[in-house]
Amino acid sequence: MNVCRPDSMSLRKLWVKVTRMDWEPVIGLEIHVQLATRSKIFSGASTAYGAPPNTQACAVDLGLPGVLPVLNEAAVRMAVKFGLAVQARIAPRSVFARKNYFYPDLPKGYQISQYELPVVEGGRLEISLEEGGSKLIGITRAHLEEDAGKSLHEDFHGLSGIDLNRAGTPLLEVVSEPDLRSAREAVAYMKKLHTLVRYLEICDGNMQEGSFRCDANVSVRRRGQHELGTRTEIKNLNSFRFVERAINYEIERQIDILEGGGSVVQETRLYDAARDETRPMRSKEEALDYRYFPDPDLLPLVLEEDFIAAVRATLPELPDEKRERFIYEFGLSPYEAEVLTASRELADYFEAAERASDGETKLTAHWVMGDLLGALNKAGLEIADSPVTAEMLGGLIRRIGDNTISGKIAKQVFEAMWQGEGDADAIIERRGLKQVTDSAAIEKVIDEVLAAHPAQVEQYRAGKDKLFGFFVGQVMKATQGKANPAQVNALLKKKLT
Ligand code: ADP
Ligand code: MG
Repeated sequence: MNVCRPDSMSLRKLWVKVTRMDWEPVIGLEIHVQLATRSKIFSGASTAYGAPPNTQACAVDLGLPGVLPVLNEAAVRMAVKFGLAVQARIAPRSVFARKNYFYPDLPKGYQISQYELPVVEGGRLEISLEEGGSKLIGITRAHLEEDAGKSLHEDFHGLSGIDLNRAGTPLLEVVSEPDLRSAREAVAYMKKLHTLVRYLEICDGNMQEGSFRCDANVSVRRRGQHELGTRTEIKNLNSFRFVERAINYEIERQIDILEGGGSVVQETRLYDAARDETRPMRSKEEALDYRYFPDPDLLPLVLEEDFIAAVRATLPELPDEKRERFIYEFGLSPYEAEVLTASRELADYFEAAERASDGETKLTAHWVMGDLLGALNKAGLEIADSPVTAEMLGGLIRRIGDNTISGKIAKQVFEAMWQGEGDADAIIERRGLKQVTDSAAIEKVIDEVLAAHPAQVEQYRAGKDKLFGFFVGQVMKATQGKANPAQVNALLKKKLT
C-alpha cells in the first residue's frame, strides 16, 4: 500500500485542489466601451480609426491654451441608451471632472471624466451560467470620459512616438459590482455586454482596434468570509481569451501568496500573453492622487425627462427579449435561441432565411448554426459578408422541405451557392439534382440492384438485417443520391419481404 505516501503526485494534486476550493474568487470588471460617434467627445475632430498619426487631433484634443471643450450630444444619447437598456437610473444632473495625472499621451495633463456624479447609476445585466440557470450582475455605474492618445514603441529606436489621434475619443466606462465568481463568469458578463452594445449600435465592438477593452479587478477570500480580500487590477485586456487567462493566473497567484502566509499587495498589473502571466505595472493610485475636481470649462450635464424619453424610443429589441421571442415564436431550444441572437445581424439573417424557407423553422436554425456559421468561420467572414444571403439559404431549405432535394444533396447545392453559382433553384436545375420521387423509376433501380446482388439478397432473407443499409446505399449510388430516401426505404422493405 503506497496510496497514502504524502509525496505521491496524485495526492499532492488532490491536496492543491482541495485547498483551492477553500478560496472564493471575487471579480469586478471595468469595461471601456468606445462610443461610435463620428466626432470626438469634446471637439469636432474625426474618430475614424487608422488615419496617419496626429492627423486627427485638433487644438481641443491637444489642450492648447484658449480653447474650450463642447460636449458631443451623440455621446450623451449613447450613454443614456445604454443606461436604459440595463435598467439603470439616468442622472438628471451629472458632472464632468478633471482627473489629473502626467503621461506623455495626455497632453492636457488631465483626463476629462465623470467622478462623483456619473450619468448612469445602478443597472444590471443577466448572464447565463455554464452549469445552467442565470445570474444578475450589478452595474455600479457607467460614466462618460475621453480617451488618451497612444504611445508607439516600435519604429522608433530607443525612443517613443506619440499618436494623439485617439485623444478625446468618447468612452463609456462601465463598472460592475464585484459580483463575478470565476474567470468564466467574467467572460460571460463581458460577452453579454459586448453583444448588448452592438445591439444598441453605440459601439462597433472591434476588440483588435481597442473599441472594447477591459480592466479586471481580482481578489480571493476564504469561503464563507464576508469581507472582500485585497484586489489587484489587471489593465487593458482586449480579448475574451486573455481576460479568462489573466484572471485565472491572478487567482492562482493570490491563493499561493495567501496559502504561504503572505499578503496580496494592492497594485495595477499587466498581463503578458506570450508568457501567460501578470506582472506589476505600478502601485495602485488612490483617488486622492488624481486630485479630481469639477471641470470649470464644462457645465453640469442636465437631462430633461423628454430627452430621456426620446432616447428610450430608439431602443431596439434587446438580446434577452429577442432570445425569449425566438423560443416562443419559433419553438427553438434555449441554446439555439442564445446562439442565434448572439448578434443582431445573425438574428436578422435567421429571421429572413426562415421567412424564405416557407415554414421550415427548425431546419433553418440547423442550417444557420451548422453549415452557414461553419463556412463563415472557416473563411474568416462576418455574416454581413456571407456569399450566401439569407434569401438564398431560405430558398435552399424550401427545396429540402418540399422534397425537391434531399438533405445530402443540399450540402452540394450550398457549396455551389457559396462558390457563387447562383441560387438553389438554378443550381438544382443546371446540375440535374432534382430528387427522384417517381415510384416506378425507383422501383426499377431497386430491381436492378437486387438482381445484381443475389447472394446478399439471400443472406438478408436468412436474417442478416444489417444488409438493409447496403441495399439503400447501392440504390442511392445508382441514382447519384437523388432518390427520395423515405421512398427507397419503403420500397426496398416491400421488395425484400
Ligand atoms: P477604482 O476606481 O479605484 O478602480 P472602484 O472601487 O471603483 O475602484 O472599483 C473598481 C472595480 O473593482 C469595480 O468593478 C469593483 O466591483 C471592483 N472591486 C472593488 N473591490 C474589489 C475586490 N476587493 N475584489 C474584486 N473586485 C473589486
Ligand atoms: Mg479602476
